[in-house]
Amino acid sequence: MATDKNAELFERARALIPGGVNSPVRAFRAVGGTPRFIERAQGAYFWDADGQRYIDYIGSWGPMILGHGHPRVVEAVQQAVRDGFSFGAPTEREIELAEEIARHLPSVEMVRLVSSGTEAAMSAIRLARGATGRNRIIKFEGCYHGHADALLVKAGSGLATFGHPTSAGVPAEVVQHTLVLEYNNIAQLEEAFATHGADLACVIIEAIAGNMNFVRASVPFMQRCRELCTQHGALLVFDEVMTGFRVGLTGAQGVYARALPGFAPDMTVLGKVIGGGMPLAAFGGPRTLMEKLAPLGPVYQAGTLSGNPVATACGLATLREIAQPGFYEALGQKTRALVDGLQAAAAESGVAFSGDCEGGMFGFFLLPQLPHNYAQVMRSDAARFGKLFHGLLDRGVYIAPALYEAGFVSSAHSDDDIARTVQAAREVFRTLA
Ligand code: PMP
Repeated sequence: MATDKNAELFERARALIPGGVNSPVRAFRAVGGTPRFIERAQGAYFWDADGQRYIDYIGSWGPMILGHGHPRVVEAVQQAVRDGFSFGAPTEREIELAEEIARHLPSVEMVRLVSSGTEAAMSAIRLARGATGRNRIIKFEGCYHGHADALLVKAGSGLATFGHPTSAGVPAEVVQHTLVLEYNNIAQLEEAFATHGADLACVIIEAIAGNMNFVRASVPFMQRCRELCTQHGALLVFDEVMTGFRVGLTGAQGVYARALPGFAPDMTVLGKVIGGGMPLAAFGGPRTLMEKLAPLGPVYQAGTLSGNPVATACGLATLREIAQPGFYEALGQKTRALVDGLQAAAAESGVAFSGDCEGGMFGFFLLPQLPHNYAQVMRSDAARFGKLFHGLLDRGVYIAPALYEAGFVSSAHSDDDIARTVQAAREVFRTLA
């Protein structure tokens, strides 16, 4: 397949942009080969610089839940652009977006809008620390909460010890308050609370993790997180940057509230879908907590482009579409059909496979059983995944170019797109058998 123009662009990009990309996973480092430079997108497809069309299962890594170029979203954005790009003063649309978010998430009474998930998670942690007067936080191995210094951390050597930076440039002192625990490990969580409970500001978690492919927190684990936080006065922070309005209208917290009546996090971090593909993210929670933010309270947080009028127009138009009755049922069925189809196709060739999905988010592993934590995810064979990725790419199907990323289906994906994807995978699985 010709990739001349992609290769040429990659060459040019690498001369000016580190690694040729503005976010690392785009560089295809994990799977090898030339990244595709995307020229345009419509519905469930995008086209690269060589004119090759792909069925898109990354959807800008989550935001494009309606597919690309949804007419009502495009119209809302065009109107907003005509009215002005940015004012640095409040607008009615920010209220409307906050109302729309709070309407669907009962745990969120007040919302602060920001421009990226990184900013939202970082600010939520500052607020948790400011509100509790405590410094320590718990995060879980394999969960990603953006690239704020205190969150670029991996587990220390012993059980429940404080972490080490995962990036150069992050001083050990900055992560000394971050405790990194194994996902779904109740005993370790209990031990951490027994030792550090009185000093913990918050536990931050991706309840359905999308940054170690797709791994669910078990219901008992989540229940224990909630109980221990409440008991010790720590805040339970749900990072729903990926899952918010993606796994359902009420997010991952809605999924756990169905299993655990009355369940709710203390704070929610949002991004991706709420901006519909524009730079927009948010964090929210109860009024008493959120009123600790500047200008009302002592916790400082700000942003020149926060609540940007074009981004809020895009997000609002997106949220209005997905709130239509039946939206998530249809999306969930499509996503389930994809995962089941892939599973059956793998079985035909005797390829070990396990998959899971919720709403429009899915993950699969070339492993016989679904993993429950990061170490289990990393048992996947990267070389086999690379073959699968390129086999699909050659057949016009674009999945995440790394085995530790989740996938996304949009309402624009047709049954035929799903069937063609499964057929492409069937062909590739034969070569993997
Ligand atoms: N939290 C989660 C769960 C995410 O998936 C991401 C991004 N993939 C972030 C935070 C960071 O968001 P952003 O890339 O917008 O900074």
